[in-house]
Amino acid sequence: MKKLIAGNWKMNGSLAANDKLLKDILAGLGQASCEVAVGVPAVYLGQCQALLAGTKIDLASQDISAHEAGAYTGETSAAMLKEFGVRYAIVGHSERRQYHGETDAVVATKAQRALSSGITPIVCVGETLAEREAGLTDEVVKRQLAAVIQTNGHCISEVVVAYEPVWAIGTGKTATPEQAQQVHAVLRAQLKAASEHADRIKLLYGGSMNAANAASLLAQPDIDGGLIGGAALKAPDFLTIIAAAA
Ligand code: 13P
Repeated sequence: MKKLIAGNWKMNGSLAANDKLLKDILAGLGQASCEVAVGVPAVYLGQCQALLAGTKIDLASQDISAHEAGAYTGETSAAMLKEFGVRYAIVGHSERRQYHGETDAVVATKAQRALSSGITPIVCVGETLAEREAGLTDEVVKRQLAAVIQTNGHCISEVVVAYEPVWAIGTGKTATPEQAQQVHAVLRAQLKAASEHADRIKLLYGGSMNAANAASLLAQPDIDGGLIGGAALKAPDFLTIIAAAA
């Protein structure tokens, strides 16, 4: 399957910085044979949609409302995201779970909302350092994914899953390729038990993935791409990761 390299800009950027970053990435992209997406802050979706029109880079949102429409101040609906050409929605990122209290059930509903609007959810799962040290990694990621499987039934084959160990995010501490592969294999097995099409579900790794370590992570059999934070904000680094996935 084609790999997917998705940037998650988080709360970074400006009109000027986004313009330069996307133009620099597009200039260096060439004939990249993997899929590429950028997850931009909601206020910049319009700007980035215009910059990316007709290019090989898809647009992602960093979140999506669990609700269809109505009195939900500050939220952005799936229909609104569709209007701006959004192809993917990051769902259940650990920063959303941690700082905004998103539960497994909310994350599962957000994935469902995305799917029913034709947006591919990138569902994030991952354990904290305390959970890893307590030997709970498999249990935690399986619980997080189980909620999404249960709510979405056979549509589960349409999602992308990102394994992002919380202790590796923004810390410079990457999971080793073996550590990441081990968890990806657990997730793949769980998806296989739920869907006959599990082999085509992309499993991304995220957490301090960078230009230096991308190739070894992406060489693992169950790592089908990356969800990139800090390194997605630097065009040369992002392009190196894309090249490693090609
Ligand atoms: P970093 O690549 O900055 O560690 O962030 C990873 C991440 O959270 C992507 O969603």
